[in-house]
Amino acid sequence: MNRLTGAAVEKDFLSRVIEESGQNLLACLQCGKCSGGCPISSDEVAGPRRLIAEILYGNKRQALEDPTWWYCVACGTCMTRCPVEINMYRVATALAEMAEEEKVPPSEPDIHLFEELFLKSVEKYGRANELKVVMNFNLRTHHPFKDMGVGMTLMRKGAINPGEFLKGGRAGERVARIFSRISSKAQRKGTGE
Ligand code: SF4
Ligand code: SF4
Repeated sequence: MNRLTGAAVEKDFLSRVIEESGQNLLACLQCGKCSGGCPISSDEVAGPRRLIAEILYGNKRQALEDPTWWYCVACGTCMTRCPVEINMYRVATALAEMAEEEKVPPSEPDIHLFEELFLKSVEKYGRANELKVVMNFNLRTHHPFKDMGVGMTLMRKGAINPGEFLKGGRAGERVARIFSRISSKAQRKGTGE
C-alpha cells in the first residue's frame, strides 16, 4: 500500500491533485456510488472510484495514464451521488493538465486529437466549425469517408451547411485574449513560476 509508505513523491502527487482540483480526495469513502452511476465506467474504463484509489495510493503513472479522465463527459452524476461531494470533473481536469505538463503520452490518442482540432477551430474561428473539425479528424485518423453517410443525412435535413466549410471567419479579440491567458498560464507552470 503505497499510500502508507510516506514516500515524498507519492505525497507530492496526492497533495498536488488535491490542490489543483480543489477536491478533498482524502474524504473519499471508496463507497463506489460515483462509479455506479458513471456513464463511462466499464470493464475497460476504471471509473471515478478506482481512479481516486490510484491517486490515494500514490500510483501517479497509472493515474496519469488512466483512460477514465479522457472519457469523462463532465455530466456531474458522480458528484450528485457522492456523499462527500467530490467533483470528479475537476479531478479529471487536474490530471489532464499534469499529464500534459509531464508529457505523458495520451492513453486515448483519438480523443486527444479531437480535442486539439476542436480547440484550434475555436481559437481560429471563435467557435467550432463542426464540418472542418470532423473532416480533419477523419483525415488524420485515416478514415476519410467514415461519417459520409451521417454527414449527407445531416446536410439534407439542414443541420449542417456545406457552405460552412468554405467560410473563413475569425475569432474576436475576446477569444484571442482567452487563448493567450491559457497559453501564458501553461508557460508559467512549465517554468515553475
Ligand atoms: S461516491 Fe464519493 S466517496 Fe464514494 S467512492 Fe465516489 S468519490 Fe469516493
Ligand atoms: S462527471 Fe465524469 S466521472 Fe463523473 S459520472 Fe460523469 S463521466 Fe463519470
